[in-house]
Amino acid sequence: MPLHEGKRSLDVVVFPGSFDPLTKGHSDLVHRALRYFDRVVVAVLSNSKKSTLFTPDERVDVIREVFADQNGRVEVQHFSGLLVEFAQRVGTRAILRGLRAISDYEYEAQMAIMNRHLSSEVETFFLTSRAEYSYISSSLVREVALLGGEITPFVPPAVEAAVHAKVKQIKRTKE
Ligand code: ADP
Repeated sequence: MPLHEGKRSLDVVVFPGSFDPLTKGHSDLVHRALRYFDRVVVAVLSNSKKSTLFTPDERVDVIREVFADQNGRVEVQHFSGLLVEFAQRVGTRAILRGLRAISDYEYEAQMAIMNRHLSSEVETFFLTSRAEYSYISSSLVREVALLGGEITPFVPPAVEAAVHAKVKQIKRTKE
């Protein structure tokens, strides 16, 4: 089928993740996706079995703050259950994920193939990390922050403030 006959579906892309917390690697992906999609819906996984530093509400709030200057082109929502169903509710068939290194590939490919299996119309679009952000992960940011290290180069300012507040709160409850 010629391309122009296909139904265009580049309006919205869903970017799912834990974002505990959102890093500059994540925000760079969102900004780059906005060059190709009209809107990005950041979908914060809220039923993760992993223990997290931030509650889903805290993560949603801080990500909204990070993208407040994007004139509504970045929406932030909670998400639980099947991603393909969430994408359907949002009205898109496009999912965005990031690849930092070959080590990300196996898990990401498995998920993309499973999601296409669950809904044959859904496609996962991968953006490779910018070289300078390829070593950044939420888990490293959490570790460094909890040990009192500097996280300014790794996270947007709003996230840095939220992480500092959270670390202070944790230290206070331990005293
Ligand atoms: P999940 O728990 O679903 O992997 P994450 O918040 O860790 O959620 O990551 C969400 C997506 O962002 C994943 O596709 C991950 O590979 C990607 N990602 C994470 N860190 C970076 C980074 N520094 N650069 C580019 N992509 C990244």
